[in-house]
Amino acid sequence: MRRPVVDMAACTMCEGCLDLAPEVFGLNQAGGYIEVAELEAYPEELVQEAVADCPAEAIAWEEA
Ligand code: SF4
Repeated sequence: MRRPVVDMAACTMCEGCLDLAPEVFGLNQAGGYIEVAELEAYPEELVQEAVADCPAEAIAWEEA
């Protein structure tokens, strides 16, 4: 299984990934960073689109 990870050093908080895949990406409660939901499986195509669309190239896959 692989899961997406967000490099918060690169993320500009544009919130594009939140709009694209709100079931995967969220704002943490304080609103300070992007949180990846704990899911049994991640929707491959949607996450791949988020990886491709992230303007900061901050989203990557990680083997879990
Ligand atoms: S799309 Fe990329 S830069 Fe924008 S909030 Fe998501 S991870 Fe951050």
